[in-house]
Amino acid sequence: MDLVLFGPPGAGKGTQAERLVERLQIPQISTGDLMRAERKSGSELGQKFDSYMSKGQLVPDELVIDLFAKRLGQPDAAKGAIFDGFPRTQAQAEALDGLLEKMGRTLHKVVVIDVPTDHIVDRITGRRMDPATGQVYHIRYNPPPPDVRVEQRADDTEEVVRKRDESYRRDTEPVLPYYEAKGLVARVDGLGSLEEVTERIKAAIGA
Ligand code: ADP
Ligand code: ADP
Repeated sequence: MDLVLFGPPGAGKGTQAERLVERLQIPQISTGDLMRAERKSGSELGQKFDSYMSKGQLVPDELVIDLFAKRLGQPDAAKGAIFDGFPRTQAQAEALDGLLEKMGRTLHKVVVIDVPTDHIVDRITGRRMDPATGQVYHIRYNPPPPDVRVEQRADDTEEVVRKRDESYRRDTEPVLPYYEAKGLVARVDGLGSLEEVTERIKAAIGA
């Protein structure tokens, strides 16, 4: 099954993708995580990614699509994957269709996790990450265990979050009609406990 988790930054895409991995037995592919890993390696490409990410701008399509295509081609994604944070533009959506088509696959659903803008800043500025495992927490809604040392992402400041939310509204949300025309969109309320949201997604995808 190939599934897109769609929604503004902070909607809970990464959190829910992680929870669905076990249930669906397919990997999560997060372009944000892939880019952070590349950045950590200190490569030239990683520095290029950072020049956009640190400002809350989208990384250019050709770079993202190339990175994504390489990951999708790995053996663990042969039976499907959960796409978290990809596609974010119309060009990426079309590239995804093309890549899946070549493998004889089509998207099962695009699940939009709806979270009102006034919750976004609170969710993102409270987000913390365990750099060792990539596990995501929230200082109030999903606090890390006391023995886990967490970090805050450099782009999780209020100023950068506002830019990311703007780019979601401007470049990413307009992709939805493309998927609506294909009858693939399922909307899920993203407010409530992590468990509640997971149950809503499972119901929406028939899992
Ligand atoms: P969030 O989980 O808050 O939505 P991500 O980890 O998905 O954030 O993305 C962090 C940053 O990485 C984005 O602000 C953007 O700069 C870049 N990025 C991630 N995925 C994409 C993509 N599909 N297209 C362009 N840029 C991306
Ligand atoms: P995204 O990948 O869409 O940017 P994340 O999964 O990283 O979003 O979640 C953003 C922040 O919100 C994290 O700190 C996460 O722990 C928290 N969060 C996720 N889902 C919920 C929820 N249902 N209620 C409260 N906080 C949540």
